[in-house]
Amino acid sequence: MEHIVSLCKRRGFIFQNSEIYGGINGFWDYGPVGVTLKNNVKKFWWESIVDHRRDVVGVDTTIIAHPETWRASGHVASFSDPMVDCRLCKGRYREDQIEKDDAGNYICPTNKCKGDFTEARAFNLMFRTFVGAQEENTAEAYLRPETCQSIFTQFKNVLTVSRQKIPFGIAQIGKSFRNEITPRNFTFRSREFEQMELEFFVKPDAGIQKEWYEYWKNTRYQWYQDLGIKKEKLHLRDHEKDELAHYASACVDVEYDFPFGRSELEGVADRGNYDLNQHIQFSKKDLSFFNQEANEKYVPAVIEASAGCDRTVLTVLCDAYDEDEIGGEKRVVMRFAPHIAPIQLAILPLSKKLAEPSMKVEADLRKEFKTDYDDAGSIGKRYRRQDEIGTPFCVTYDFDSESDGKVTIRDRDTTKQDRIAITEIRNYTLENMQRKA
Ligand code: ATP
Repeated sequence: MEHIVSLCKRRGFIFQNSEIYGGINGFWDYGPVGVTLKNNVKKFWWESIVDHRRDVVGVDTTIIAHPETWRASGHVASFSDPMVDCRLCKGRYREDQIEKDDAGNYICPTNKCKGDFTEARAFNLMFRTFVGAQEENTAEAYLRPETCQSIFTQFKNVLTVSRQKIPFGIAQIGKSFRNEITPRNFTFRSREFEQMELEFFVKPDAGIQKEWYEYWKNTRYQWYQDLGIKKEKLHLRDHEKDELAHYASACVDVEYDFPFGRSELEGVADRGNYDLNQHIQFSKKDLSFFNQEANEKYVPAVIEASAGCDRTVLTVLCDAYDEDEIGGEKRVVMRFAPHIAPIQLAILPLSKKLAEPSMKVEADLRKEFKTDYDDAGSIGKRYRRQDEIGTPFCVTYDFDSESDGKVTIRDRDTTKQDRIAITEIRNYTLENMQRKA
């Protein structure tokens, strides 16, 4: 994991937020190649969930909602972790994350003290803030801990304007905030993060719910493979009955084998019509669906697919990371699938004197591919940099290119080089992207 964290900083994928002030725990910034990678992941999700489907529409709702939202959802009362404080070192820890010794006593995670713990207390994970000029309880609001609640509160509006009929879904990508007690494992558990959530509304009927639950479970599992993640590292873990929320009838986690262990990427759940019913009860508004053809009215059940964007990016980074040896030299190479690689084609002139014609080649390709232009330093060093940011193809423009109209194109994974016509770069790249995908 340290290798990945260090590469992320060295090449501009992910930086610690406020690093010059010593950082702030649980907050991370994406650098130039990181933001492109993250955008590619979001775009791939949005296309497969919204753009390519007739039965899902998107929304973009605010981070702060009416506080009643969080009373209805249950977050005010129970979105908390049981916490214990160590009286000796003053550390505060999540009870379920502290190890116990053979005698059943907690071992203080700092290892600096033997540990003398308080009883467990609930600690609410929502960040609080104030809306308006007055800092009093009536103005108190929360930063959303998940993006889906506004999908539920806007359900009726979206249903009316989108002319959708059940079954259909509403999707959203956006920031969520949780005051996690122990942010850790790089971006895996952050305090500010992005979610990609789908709420798919179906008729409340055990058979129909099960059918759609199975459908989304398989569709989402396949999505990670299509993203380019190795299948053998992806797993589906069905929740045991005692793990399920009281209103949920089924839940499955998509998990990945991270360097720090197998962990959750996404949860797919059949939540019944609990959420809409809660908002109906608290708002006293009718959020039911009326099916004219069948002349029936009901509160839809929902199948939720809730994915973490930052966790997916971390998965992509861990999955792509590789070290090999080329000509006796060790190199680090990020083997991203070309469709999500931050840079797909790098144009590297052999000499700065060739800047003008090679920039022209790059400008042309930029219309279709994500490109980079780099003329600084030795060609070996430039290749190494491109390997570390996962660029699948590097084009070298040399002095012969001027006369023969050809360039050398190098494959990231095999380092094999081909001499091809400048006019062929586009086709070559498209064909070989396909092959790698
Ligand atoms: P965990 O058990 O890891 O805290 P959770 O089960 O509470 O996660 P959900 O509430 O189901 O998570 O959130 C859905 C998704 O949002 C998760 O699968 C994860 O990808 C992402 N997510 C949740 N909390 C965080 C976090 N603190 N940092 C980054 N991503 C998160």
